[in-house]
Amino acid sequence: MINTTASVWKEALASRYEETVAWRRHLHRHPEVSYEERQTALFVAEKLESFGLEVTAGVGGHGVVGSLKNGAGPVVALRADMDALAIQDEKACEYASTVPGVMHACGHDAHTATLLSVARAMAEHREEWSGEVRFVFQPAEEVSPGGAQAMIKEGALQGVDRMYGVHLWTPIPSGMVAVRPGPMMAAVDDFFLTVYGRGGHGGMPHLCTDAVVIGAQLVQQWQTIVSRSVSPLQPAVVSVGALQAGSTQNVIADRAVLKGTIRSFDPAARELLRVRFETILQHTCAMHGAEYELEYRVGYPALVNHESEAERVRRVAAGCFGAERVQEADMLMPAEDFAYYMKEVPGCFVLVGAGNGEAASYPHHHPRFDIDEPAMLTAGELLAGLACDALMNP
Ligand SMILES: [Zn+2]
Ligand SMILES: [Zn+2]
Repeated sequence: MINTTASVWKEALASRYEETVAWRRHLHRHPEVSYEERQTALFVAEKLESFGLEVTAGVGGHGVVGSLKNGAGPVVALRADMDALAIQDEKACEYASTVPGVMHACGHDAHTATLLSVARAMAEHREEWSGEVRFVFQPAEEVSPGGAQAMIKEGALQGVDRMYGVHLWTPIPSGMVAVRPGPMMAAVDDFFLTVYGRGGHGGMPHLCTDAVVIGAQLVQQWQTIVSRSVSPLQPAVVSVGALQAGSTQNVIADRAVLKGTIRSFDPAARELLRVRFETILQHTCAMHGAEYELEYRVGYPALVNHESEAERVRRVAAGCFGAERVQEADMLMPAEDFAYYMKEVPGCFVLVGAGNGEAASYPHHHPRFDIDEPAMLTAGELLAGLACDALMNP
């Protein structure tokens, strides 16, 4: 069953699709990394103003908030993230990044273009809704502490009753929508560690404290945290992403640098991971007479969707696209600072399929990452539909 409001958004977005693609490609050519989204924010603010929105820039860094009001009613917020990644674009296409070492490898350019297209459609079709739609363009999603917390602190969610966000997702085929109630994306903590031993001659190890041996033991010992300490029924990850020590074959390394990421869903499991990680670190170093310096960076909490809002997404998506195009999303170990919004107001984060088996088949954060551009129409229609539904059936 296709409802009539849905077809208003479908038509409005489709009739301006080429412009949405042009915006996305412009942003794709000019990516800016987290906390440096100056030109992107200017581009967004200028467009929103031209659609007649009330615009506030510089919210929580380079965040931009556009407010569209139409009489009395609830306030519904829609969010797009704007930042790119420090990755060299390896695509050979006319809209490849022009900035060396920086690339939109997560699709945030398309999130931004999509939300702009929704803002314009909703500004042009006020007869479909009443209340306020708050368009939240967030900087710095990719790097903790992230832009969401800062925007909340500066009042971006003031008065907001419901909030929705989408992530275009290439592992899911374009045209599909994936949603789940409850926990959806993991809590993430990162560690940055230096172990200090004592260097010396490779032939006289008894006079040294070998940081290579200690580093290697730590990596092995930490593997027991998930396999032996955390309940097998709890999702958890301990990944050591970097282990650097030593310089050549006949010198005992005096220090080892280790970096990694620790992920979980359950707050008790998150605490257990931290305690076990540090206990193993402390005792392994003590055993060898080494010292260490640890920065344990607490990152985003787990993203938990509100049950009734996930149900709304399912219903609205089925109304727009048909129930056969709506699937249950898996829980994912990547993190997302949309989690902070979900601690403040009821809402839901949704995955919109953006893979097409051709150019758009690479995973997120890959140097050849691309999206299936028509997925922006699916995402836009869903966001407009959700906003309308939440405004008219709060
Ligand atoms: Zn990303
Ligand atoms: Zn992303």
